[in-house]
Amino acid sequence: MKTLKIAIQKSGRLNEKSVELLKNCGLNFENYKSSLISPVSNFPLEILFLRDDDIPEYVQDGIADLGIVGENVIQETEAEVSYLQRLGFGKCSLKIAVPNNNDIQSLTDLNGKAIATTYPVILGKFLKEQGIQSDIRTISGSVEISPGLGLSDAICDLVSTGGTLKSNGLKPFADVMTSEAVLISCKATEDNELVKELIQRVQSVLRAKETKYVVLNVHQDNLEAVTALLPGVKSPSVVNLAEPDWVAVHTVIPERDFWDRISQLKQAGAQGIVVMPIEKIIL
Ligand code: ATP
Ligand code: ZN
Repeated sequence: MKTLKIAIQKSGRLNEKSVELLKNCGLNFENYKSSLISPVSNFPLEILFLRDDDIPEYVQDGIADLGIVGENVIQETEAEVSYLQRLGFGKCSLKIAVPNNNDIQSLTDLNGKAIATTYPVILGKFLKEQGIQSDIRTISGSVEISPGLGLSDAICDLVSTGGTLKSNGLKPFADVMTSEAVLISCKATEDNELVKELIQRVQSVLRAKETKYVVLNVHQDNLEAVTALLPGVKSPSVVNLAEPDWVAVHTVIPERDFWDRISQLKQAGAQGIVVMPIEKIIL
């Protein structure tokens, strides 16, 4: 079968998490900063290290079969690719921000104002939908300093914590889009068997990250109350302890309501609760 190619960011905010995800999928490769391409020794795959802006088009054109990139970049390039899986990292929002001491109160106040951005396509669509006509100033970086320099009245930029805005005397004003890293594929290779195998591996790693493995002890009298709180992959496993009338319950629980679930379990009679990370869950 043909060797696949996956494009990931060479350096920057998505590089480390993309490499980690692929390594957790059991793929062995060298992660030299200097190389553009790295073969995987135990899967018919090559990793291409690129600037994030180039990834959607490489995937659209089939130069890479797969890619990991922010949704913001896909939408800005308007590349025709298939979204396979959200990856849960690189989360950020594209926001319009205005100087703290500003008379812009509502979106309509942006009419006729200059907005600096590196995302003219997404911003242009957003303003059009809102029926607002602003002067979009496309610049290639350091967008946040442009109001201070008198280059624009507002900016449209990616924000995660908001710290950069604050330190430049700006405040968030309107949400344009939210984004996270996604796994994409070329439309032509979407149904390829190796692509499917890789998606399954990625999903099993993501599922494992969202769940914890839990072992606890409970008296037989409280077993029903405890298992009622536990889903497990199918259902929890129950194992007899050496001490009569006591059992150990093994199960997985979702990370998101973890602490609530643990306190409910304790109230229901669970003791000696041991929680472990999971590497993979294959369904
Ligand atoms: P490249 O050199 O590959 O072009 P870049 O400078 O354009 O890199 P980064 O700053 O590394 O890009 O950001 C890559 C992606 O990380 C963004 O496109 C976005 O999806 C995501 N991201 C998450 N949080 C932020 C943030 N606070 N600011 C910018 N990007 C963020
Ligand atoms: Zn970039």
